[in-house]
Amino acid sequence: MSSRAGRPQSVAGRRLAESQPALRAAASHTVVLMKQPPPFRMASRETHPQSTVVTAGGVAIGTGRLVVMAGPCSVESRQQIREAARRVKAAGADMLRGGAYKPRTSPYDFQGLGPKALEWLSEAGREFGLPVVTEVVSPEDVELVAEHADLLQVGARNMQNYALLRRLATAPKPVLLKRGPSATIQEWLLAAEYLLSGGNPRVVLCERGIRTFETATRNTLDLAGVALVKSLSHLPVIVDPSHGTGKRALVPPASRAAAAVGADGLLIEVHPCPERALSDGDQSLDPAEFAALMCTLRPRALAAHA
Ligand code: PEP
Ligand code: MN
Repeated sequence: MSSRAGRPQSVAGRRLAESQPALRAAASHTVVLMKQPPPFRMASRETHPQSTVVTAGGVAIGTGRLVVMAGPCSVESRQQIREAARRVKAAGADMLRGGAYKPRTSPYDFQGLGPKALEWLSEAGREFGLPVVTEVVSPEDVELVAEHADLLQVGARNMQNYALLRRLATAPKPVLLKRGPSATIQEWLLAAEYLLSGGNPRVVLCERGIRTFETATRNTLDLAGVALVKSLSHLPVIVDPSHGTGKRALVPPASRAAAAVGADGLLIEVHPCPERALSDGDQSLDPAEFAALMCTLRPRALAAHA
C-alpha cells in the first residue's frame, strides 16, 4: 500500500479508511453542508446557470464584450460634462458616467449639483450617443434620476440601504450595485437579492475595492472576488479601478487585470482636467490617458473572453 501526503492510495487502503466511523461521519457531514442552497437564491448561478445579460440604454452588459463606462466623478458644469462625453466617446467608451448626487465622507465637500447636473448629463449623453449611469442616494430621488439615467448606480455607502434597494426594485431602469467598502461577497449578493426578489431582474454588480489594513491604496481592489462572484452568480460584474485604487497611475494596470479575470465591464473616472476636478481628481484619468488605456484594453478583453 503506498501513501502520499498521508492519504492511502490502494483500494484496500481506501476501504480501510472508509470503514472508520469517524471518517464516515465527517464525509456525510460534508455532503450535508454542500447541499445547503446559497441564501442569495435568485442571484445564484445554481438556480440560474445561464449568465444574465443586462441591457442599459441599448448597451448589453454581460455578453463577453468588455463594456466601458467613463466620465467624471461629478458633473460640475454643462461644458465640463459635454467635453468629457466628447472625449470618452472619441476614445471608444460605451457609456457616460457622472455624479449629480454625491455621497461625500465630509459634509463640507462638494455634494453635487442635483437636478441641474442630471439634465446636463443626459443632454451630453444624447448628443454623443452615450447612455448614462449616475448615482441615486435616496428613495425620493429615484423617480427623477430614472427619468434621466439609463443605469441607476447604488453607491458603495448605500449597498445596505434597504429602503433605497426596495424602491429601486420597482424602478423602470437597471441598477448598478456597488459593493460596500466592508461588505462580504455574501452580503453583496444578498443586497442584489433585495432588487431581484423585489421585482427588478436587471442588476449589474460593481467591485470598487474594499477596506483593508492597507493604506497605500485608497481601497483594496478584490479581483479574486470578481472571479468568485462570476462563478457564484449569473449577474454581470464590472470593476471600478478608480475608486478601487485611488491613484491615477494604477487605473490602467488595474483595468487590464479586471478584464483578465473576466469582468464584464469597467467604470472609469475621466475628467477633462483632473487637476481642477471638484472630486476625485487624484484618481481621474485625463482624456489622453483614457484613450491610451482603451487602445490596450480592447484586444486583451477580447482575448480574455475568447
Ligand atoms: C462614485 O462612483 O463616484 C462613487 C462615489 O463611488 P463609490 O460609491 O464606489 O465610492
Ligand atoms: Mn468618485
